[in-house]
Amino acid sequence: MARLNTFPVSVKVAGRRIVIVGGDEEALAKARLAAKTSAEVVVFAPEVEADFSGLDVSVVERVAQAADFAGAALAFIADHGPEGQRALEMARAAGVPVNEVDVPENCDFFTPAIIDRAPISIAISSEGDAPVLARLVRARIEAMLSPGLGALARLAGAMREKAAQRLSDGVARRRYYEALVTSPAIENALDAGQGAAAADALLDAHAGAEPGRGMVWLIGAGPGAEDLLTLRAQRLLQEADVIVHDQLVPSGVVEMGRRDAERISVGKAKGHHSFSQAQINALLVRLAREGKKVARLKSGDPMVFGRAGQEIAALRKAGVEHGIVPGITSALAAAADTATPVTLRKVSSGFVFATAHGADNEDLAHWASLAGSGLTLGLYMGKSIASRVVRQLLAHGLSRSVPVGVVVNAGRAEKALYAGTVGGLAAGEIDFVDGPAIIFVGDAVAHGDWARAEVFAAREWKVA
Ligand code: SAH
Repeated sequence: MARLNTFPVSVKVAGRRIVIVGGDEEALAKARLAAKTSAEVVVFAPEVEADFSGLDVSVVERVAQAADFAGAALAFIADHGPEGQRALEMARAAGVPVNEVDVPENCDFFTPAIIDRAPISIAISSEGDAPVLARLVRARIEAMLSPGLGALARLAGAMREKAAQRLSDGVARRRYYEALVTSPAIENALDAGQGAAAADALLDAHAGAEPGRGMVWLIGAGPGAEDLLTLRAQRLLQEADVIVHDQLVPSGVVEMGRRDAERISVGKAKGHHSFSQAQINALLVRLAREGKKVARLKSGDPMVFGRAGQEIAALRKAGVEHGIVPGITSALAAAADTATPVTLRKVSSGFVFATAHGADNEDLAHWASLAGSGLTLGLYMGKSIASRVVRQLLAHGLSRSVPVGVVVNAGRAEKALYAGTVGGLAAGEIDFVDGPAIIFVGDAVAHGDWARAEVFAAREWKVA
């Protein structure tokens, strides 16, 4: 993985000096940047070529001297001759970080592309590798941000003391600020010059309110890739005070929550039942009763083999407000990975979500007849018993030639595919790679793209 060679920080320059050495266009460009700050900007150049007249900077028509750098916050050298070199050394001797314009090897710091919504600033840097790209990124971000962002940030800053006095609880304070910076009413009030009054009124409302009502969202995280999350899931993750997640949800997705949100892993990986279902139910109810916003993050879709039923029943019984956000269930991610239409005109008139785990003889007889009649089966939690399950399907009369496809790690970069027939899979155990798997059974499987699949013994169907 590539690592940053620079570390972005914001340098305090208020009340200090920024020294610019040079009098040409290069120096002017840096002066323009520096003049966005409240620092005292001083340009030293024996000959001034560029027009600095419109800028709030002082231009001193002589070469810079050692004393000029004393206590300066930053220095820009836009003179590549011997005078510039001397200035660079003087700046370094005075302990001032230096940037020689366009000479990266002489730079202690770089100037990123800046979005200025004071007091909010966004800096985009490519460490000098791709300034054009950095500017493009800046333009895109600029377009997303309201021009009023700075005013909003100042308003939030102005409310800090009052909010701290009236809202002693950290969670309540965060809710207040969230409401403050997202409410269209506040934005309108700011436009009308009434921002302070509106912020006070909002604070009154929050200070009088009961402690925030807790709530639990059951959120589908999808099969594991971060960009297979829904926008709603992403938003609610950002709002959550606590994220309660299963082992199967990759850390990249769990990380998408707020940095300071509490994260609780409730295990549920195969073989590790660190929390019982009853304990998870009790945990969700307790957190919500403490007034927290809880994101209960589950792999795939919460309503598919996710024990959502038990959790919803517990929340309902406890009178805890709750909601559900669908996710992409792993079988459908597997279908996408392999371009397999799980329903297909004249081939498969339906799709069955089933779990091989704990399936009894009656279930298996039922599935054999469904698959035999053309429905596609999507079997969850069956990798370790795949061969046994298909042997039983055979015993219940399913034809040996029915296609089978297995997707391990569906929807993730490290996915692995296996393809064959019921007869082939029944004949032997397969050495699958590590990871959760979906097993498809049915004629529609043959219509998918399994060209990259490892073929298990005796596959009789052709790759479509
Ligand atoms: N709610 C989840 C299922 C949880 S049960 C969903 O909708 O997908 C756990 C089972 O889901 C695993 O045993 C496996 O069969 C399946 N599974 C979960 N993630 C998977 C993935 N990325 N690829 C293949 N199967 C997966």
